[in-house]
Amino acid sequence: MSLNVLKKEFDSRFEGQPRFFKSPGRINLIGDHTDYNDGFVMPAAINRYAQLAVSFNTVKRLNVRSIDLNEILEIDLNQLQAKAKSSWENYFIGVLSIFGERGIKLKGVDCVFTSDIPVGAGLSSSAAITCCFAFALNEMFEAGFTKNELVDIAQQTEHRFAQVMCGNMDQTASVFGKVGQVFKFDCRSRETSFHSLNLNDSSLLLVDTKVKHALAETAYNTRREECEAAVKLIQQSYPEVSSLRDAEYHMINEVGLKDNLKLRAEFVIEENDRVTKAELCLDQNDLDGLGELMWESHKGLSQKYKVSCPELDFIVQHTKNLSYIKGARMMGGGFGGCCILLIQSSAIMGFKELITTPFTKAFDAQPEFYQFELVDGTQEYS
Ligand code: ADP
Ligand code: MG
Repeated sequence: MSLNVLKKEFDSRFEGQPRFFKSPGRINLIGDHTDYNDGFVMPAAINRYAQLAVSFNTVKRLNVRSIDLNEILEIDLNQLQAKAKSSWENYFIGVLSIFGERGIKLKGVDCVFTSDIPVGAGLSSSAAITCCFAFALNEMFEAGFTKNELVDIAQQTEHRFAQVMCGNMDQTASVFGKVGQVFKFDCRSRETSFHSLNLNDSSLLLVDTKVKHALAETAYNTRREECEAAVKLIQQSYPEVSSLRDAEYHMINEVGLKDNLKLRAEFVIEENDRVTKAELCLDQNDLDGLGELMWESHKGLSQKYKVSCPELDFIVQHTKNLSYIKGARMMGGGFGGCCILLIQSSAIMGFKELITTPFTKAFDAQPEFYQFELVDGTQEYS
């Protein structure tokens, strides 16, 4: 949506002179379910955005209009409590409320927002909203929070207001993204190391299955619990291990991890290792190697971590024998959402046609395809 449309929407409802902010969605090249295990991921911000027009008001209320849903939130500043679990209002209430908790003297805020990040596709539409609003408030209140503090505020909003126990990758990618670059992110130390993504005649392509199985949320929580349980057992012999990030392969057998806990721990150790290897591949311009790691990541997510689903497996399986595809894997939490493919650019059109018919036949649903560019993180614009 253009700035003019956003401005017009704002003017039709509110009085002040708005400032404009945008925050991108993100992909994750490799490293899934490692973030909450204090491990490594490799995200990048993409040119799909949550966009906000914001100004202060004098009525001590938070007023937010969602253009896309055609809904409005109006709430007094002294009533900033979470609403029903899945409502979009919580992202705004949460961020503003946490600014108050952190010592900022609140004023009323008017806001209009829109986003072209598909919801629930694994591109972090919610993080884009929270990061955008946190960044905007930081500028407007001249609060002086660092970018990492804004990431914390956005993550806390997910935990406490949206009740989603996410890690900090999504917010970090949205805030810190750099044009043309992916970055290896250490979710524990928060160290970032950026790498230009030189794909030559290849591209990254997202294939959205357009499904979100109901299992996603419970399975996510179960996986987190399993990882914690595995850590507890490992700690009996290795007290220095505080998360699976610290675990090593030999410990799994030594402490006798079994069944699901063994598989989950193996996956996390292997996936962290793959992110480190992927970084080397990027440095050496080894796209075949990178693609190979993507296949392996999918296999692990599907067979050891068990967070894939028939639709995601179908797409990855169908890419296996195509010489123009170097790698493919499910991306994100799982049980639906997107696959990310490393594909020869000239073959994209043909691939879309090739996969759509059998996918539609198998699942009675149309996949969607997204091409994208890697962009800078959250910013004010005009
Ligand atoms: P994702 O993986 O895309 O972040 P989430 O379930 O975490 O999925 O967040 C999606 C939620 O974010 C939606 O249910 C809605 O509350 C909010 N949201 C995302 N995009 C929009 C939008 N364009 N307009 C209003 N709310 C939105
Ligand atoms: Mg989200």
